[in-house]
Amino acid sequence: MRRPRNVLDLEKASRDALWRSLAGIVESYMAKVHESPVAPSVTPVEIESLLAPMQFDRQIDPRVALGFVAENLTKHQVHTPHARYFGLFNPAPATMGIVADALVAAFNPQLATWNHSPFAVQLERHLIRMFGARFGYTAEDVDGTFASGGAEANHTAVLTALEYSFPDFARLGTRGLEKQPRLYVSAQAHHSIVKAVRACGLGSDAIRTIVVDDAMRIDVDALVEQLRRDRAAGDAPFMIVANAGTTNAGVVDPIASLAEVAAAERVWFHVDAAWGGAAIFLPELARLLQGIELSDSITFDAHKFLSVPMAAGMYLTRHRDILSRTFRITTDYMPDAAAADLPDPYTHSLQWSRRFIGLKVFLSLAVAGWDGYEQAIRHQTAMGNLLRRELEAADWEIVNSTPLPIACFADRSHPRGRTESFIHAVAREVVSSGEAWISTTRLEREIPVLRACVTNYRTEPEDIRALVGAVGKARSKLLAGQGA
Ligand SMILES: *Cc1c(COP(=O)(O)O)cnc(C)c1O
Repeated sequence: MRRPRNVLDLEKASRDALWRSLAGIVESYMAKVHESPVAPSVTPVEIESLLAPMQFDRQIDPRVALGFVAENLTKHQVHTPHARYFGLFNPAPATMGIVADALVAAFNPQLATWNHSPFAVQLERHLIRMFGARFGYTAEDVDGTFASGGAEANHTAVLTALEYSFPDFARLGTRGLEKQPRLYVSAQAHHSIVKAVRACGLGSDAIRTIVVDDAMRIDVDALVEQLRRDRAAGDAPFMIVANAGTTNAGVVDPIASLAEVAAAERVWFHVDAAWGGAAIFLPELARLLQGIELSDSITFDAHKFLSVPMAAGMYLTRHRDILSRTFRITTDYMPDAAAADLPDPYTHSLQWSRRFIGLKVFLSLAVAGWDGYEQAIRHQTAMGNLLRRELEAADWEIVNSTPLPIACFADRSHPRGRTESFIHAVAREVVSSGEAWISTTRLEREIPVLRACVTNYRTEPEDIRALVGAVGKARSKLLAGQGA
C-alpha cells in the first residue's frame, strides 16, 4: 500500500540524502575532532542569539536543519570524544555504540514489557547476567536492570536496601520506620548518593559520612565505631556503600573488609563501581576489586570506561527477587508478563517506558569481544601511568594513589604551586588554550589539585605529552606574570 506523504517521515529521496548527510557528519566528526580546540569559548548570550530565530513558524529543509545543529554542536561543546579531553569519565563513544543508538531510535522498542520487545528485554537480561558473573556473582543468582546512569543505579540500590531491611517500606514509606535509618559512605563518595537518599524521602541526615585515611580510603575502624554508636542510640543502620574508583581521585575502598562489616552487621552492601568497575576486566587490576563478589549490589556505568554513548548505567544484584519486591506493581492496562521468572522491566526498575539501553553495550561488546575491551582498558591504564611519570618528571607532584588512569597533581617547587588560585589559573589557561581539557578539584582536607583523567581509548603518548606541555606552559606563564 502506498501511504500518503507525511511531513514527519519525509520523502524517500529526501531520506536517502539525509542518511548520507548524517553518515558524513558523523564520520567527519570522528575523524577530525582531534584537530579542533577541545573546548569552546562561548557565552550564553551568543547561544541564545543563535536559537532566537528558530520560532518554528516555517518549515526548514531537513538537511539545513541537520546542518544547523551539527555545526553548532561542533563549535559549541567540550569535545568529550577528543583524545586530549582529560575529563570527567566521559568517553569517546565506540562506533558500534553510535550505530546501536541510531538503530534503537528507528525501531523504537518499548522496554516496559516483554510482550512488546521480547528480543530486547531478553538481550538486556543476558547482558545483566554476563556482567554480574564477570563481577563474581553466582550466575543463577544474578539479577539487575539497565538504568539511565550511575545516579539512577545508586537510587535503585538505596531503594532495594530499604526494601531488604524494612519490608514494609514500599507500603508505609518513612512514616512506617520506628528508628532513624542510617546509610554509611566515605567522605569521598559520589553525591548522587545524597540525591538518592533525598529522593527516597529519608533526608540527607540519614547519611553518616565516614572519614578517610591518608590514601582517601574509608576508615573501616571509624565506620565500625559509628555503626556501634548509632545502634546504641537506637538507630537502624541499613546500608554501607563502598567506592570502587572515586570521581575525585580514582580511589578504591577496602571492599573485602567492608563486605565483612556489612555481613556481621546484617546491612545491605553496595559497591559504587560506576567507572572503576572496569578494573574487573584486567587480570592485573581485578584484585583491586577483591570482595566485590560479596556485595549485595553494584553500580556500573557502561557509558564510562566501556566507551558507549551516554545513558548506559547498570544496577546488578545477587538477590534475584529484590527488584521485583521493590518495584512490583500490577495494572489493568499493561500486557501480562510472559513468565514468572521473566518479570516485565516496568515492574522491576524505576523507569516505565524506556529506551533500549543495552543494545549499545551488546553491539560494542559483540564486535570488540571481552578481549577488545581488555586491550582498550589496558591501553588507557598505560596512558595513565605515562601521564604520572611525565608529570613527575616535569616537577609536578602526584597527590593521589591509584593504578587507575586519574592523576591529581600540584606544583611541588614553587611556594604558590599548591594554592587554590594558582591551581584554578593553570586549569583555566590550559582549557582556554584549546590544547587539552582538565579540571580542578579539592581532595581531603580541602587540598586543591589539578585533575586529569584518561577517558578515551584513542589517547596516545603524544596526547599525554601535549597535556604535560600545556600545563607546563601555563605554569611558566603564571609564575612569570607574578614576578616569581
Ligand atoms: C559517574 C558516577 C556516578 C553517577 O553516574 P551518572 O552516570 O553520571 O548518573 C556515580 N558514582 C560514581 C563513582 C561515578 O563516577
